[in-house]
Amino acid sequence: MTLRRISLVLLLVPPVILALSRAEEAKTREPRLWRGIDTAGMDPLRKSWEDFYQYANGKWIAETDIPPDRPAVFVFTLLAKSNREQLRKILEAAAKDAAKDSIRGKVGAFYRSGMDEKKIDEQGVKPLRSELERIAALKDAKELLPALARMHMVRSFAGFAFASTPDLKDSRRVIAEFSQGGLSLPDRDYYLKDDARLKKIRGEYVVHVAKMLELLGDTHEEAERQAKTVLAFETRLAKASRARVDLRDPHRNYHLMSVADMEKETPGVSWKPYFQALGLGDLKELTVGQPDFLKEVGEMLVKTPVDDWKVYLRWKLLNSYADKLSSPFVEENFHFKGTVLTGTPRNLPRWERIVQSTDSLLGEALGQLYVEKAFPPEAKNKAEALVANLKGTLRERLAKLDWMQPKTREEALRKLDAMAVKIGYPAKWRDYSGLAVDRDGYALNVMQASEFETRFDLDKIGKPVDRTEWGMTPPTVNAYYNPNFNEIVFPAGILQPPFFDPKADDAVNYGAMGMVIGHELTHGFDDQGRKFDADGNLRDWWTPQDARTYKERAQEIAEQYSKYVPIDDLKINGEMTLGENIADLGGLKISYLAFKKTLKDKPAPVKIDGFTPEQRFFLSYAMLWRAALRDEELRRRVRTDFHSPPRFRVLGPLYNMPEFFEAFAAPPDAARRRLNPKPVVIW
Ligand SMILES: [Zn+2]
Repeated sequence: MTLRRISLVLLLVPPVILALSRAEEAKTREPRLWRGIDTAGMDPLRKSWEDFYQYANGKWIAETDIPPDRPAVFVFTLLAKSNREQLRKILEAAAKDAAKDSIRGKVGAFYRSGMDEKKIDEQGVKPLRSELERIAALKDAKELLPALARMHMVRSFAGFAFASTPDLKDSRRVIAEFSQGGLSLPDRDYYLKDDARLKKIRGEYVVHVAKMLELLGDTHEEAERQAKTVLAFETRLAKASRARVDLRDPHRNYHLMSVADMEKETPGVSWKPYFQALGLGDLKELTVGQPDFLKEVGEMLVKTPVDDWKVYLRWKLLNSYADKLSSPFVEENFHFKGTVLTGTPRNLPRWERIVQSTDSLLGEALGQLYVEKAFPPEAKNKAEALVANLKGTLRERLAKLDWMQPKTREEALRKLDAMAVKIGYPAKWRDYSGLAVDRDGYALNVMQASEFETRFDLDKIGKPVDRTEWGMTPPTVNAYYNPNFNEIVFPAGILQPPFFDPKADDAVNYGAMGMVIGHELTHGFDDQGRKFDADGNLRDWWTPQDARTYKERAQEIAEQYSKYVPIDDLKINGEMTLGENIADLGGLKISYLAFKKTLKDKPAPVKIDGFTPEQRFFLSYAMLWRAALRDEELRRRVRTDFHSPPRFRVLGPLYNMPEFFEAFAAPPDAARRRLNPKPVVIW
């Protein structure tokens, strides 16, 4: 599902992939996880209220080297790695006794094919041959759309994106959606901005595309010429693409139209052959996310020489599958996507890449084996109790917020009461019986599994929405709010220490997991979520006055964050990150209030490790955002991530919470200097 509809706690790095220099092999200090409050990682010489991020995390950060195969280290990624180690054991066992037809057999066979490096190297580019021949044989513009459909079928997203989605205005049914896409660099800015660093990356991109094409067998001159064609082609798509910040408004990105109307937007283009090739020959209507982008693609389909399209399609296919091919492709692919784009010197070990790939393509098969081992019913029960307390606390807040009018309040309460909660894993698992996993070739297995995924996705079009579906796999270390389903979802993978520990004191769990739960809950009411009603429909249920007050308060948050400069002179985009920043602030506040309720049933507050329960709450929160990022990765994130960098995810909310300064007994003038003059309270 697209980002516009799902708000994640953390935008994880796309699976990147090798090139290692001798210097990088020097021993690094392994980043470590902890349970409870990790006092050893603090910087106690600092005053807590001066720079709480540094106070809580200084020693840990100073002692943490970013491993050469990572662009960054977050608590999220450390836990994800520990989950992957568990998955590796499961998959290695499954690979040994693979009985082909079982879930176990399928994930085992898939994993084994990915680990068979010898065979993969022997095959070279052979697995792509028939797809490449198909592209080479294209004769005229009429054949382009079926060719694009075939590529979309194997999840190589050339030209534009096409998928199923719940209808934003009738959340009971699934419709088709056309949206902007087709770029290979992380964002349109990478093509368009007149910025020294981005220009350098563009130059390196052309060199990279040429190298990859040479690996495919092209001459040096031919490869260089084609690489320039690719850049020009994608730059045109980039120009027609909306900026990320403009994708956040669901109204502006929803245009329900008939296929006939779609064709009026693109004179000379018949879309039937595209839909037919996807098995959607009788599709009548769809939503077009960005009509200007559609027009541009229409014009390119008619006017851009077919030979340029062929160069672009061939590149997109290669780019999508490079990390599944033999070593030279994997290495060059990593050199660009890992080293150039994120500053990471070395690729992940193969086992880890294949675990990721199995999780991404056979997630609910592997997930079944994972939860058996990693998520006992006891953890599920405790997590449910935590969510219930958070939800109850937000309800109390909504009931008495001073700025909300009765009419809006009533709808807000209705929305909260209707909000569904999913914890751990799906109540109903996906059916993989239709998927064949042939042990004889990794890239082809990926292609087959991709096709299986696409068919599953497109098959939903025209049917009622299935609300039992999950948008993340069970081992994922993340969580989301889905406005179309009006639900919050917490996979088993994140319900692990240090996020959640059934054995830890309440302060630790509320400061960490409680905040994540609060964060997702408030997404239902942030600048995007609030546009959807209790049933998940895009409908304005706010009185104009409430909408105005909300906007004013949100604007203060946007201004606050726009002042932060994480690196160079690169500022946080306060508008782009607004929803996430509001969710951080609201989540922390709600979790703090819920946590205070747990203290009421207890005798006297006891200090643990020398800290009061309130102090432990804030420490647990700050520790959750421990991180170390390579400079290039930090720049990439500031440009593309809807979340603020970790340091500001801690400091930003705290500067709006007098409770924090009270908990640490900050001298009044110190608190005054740091607190927002009028702390913003939304939830
Ligand atoms: Zn979020």
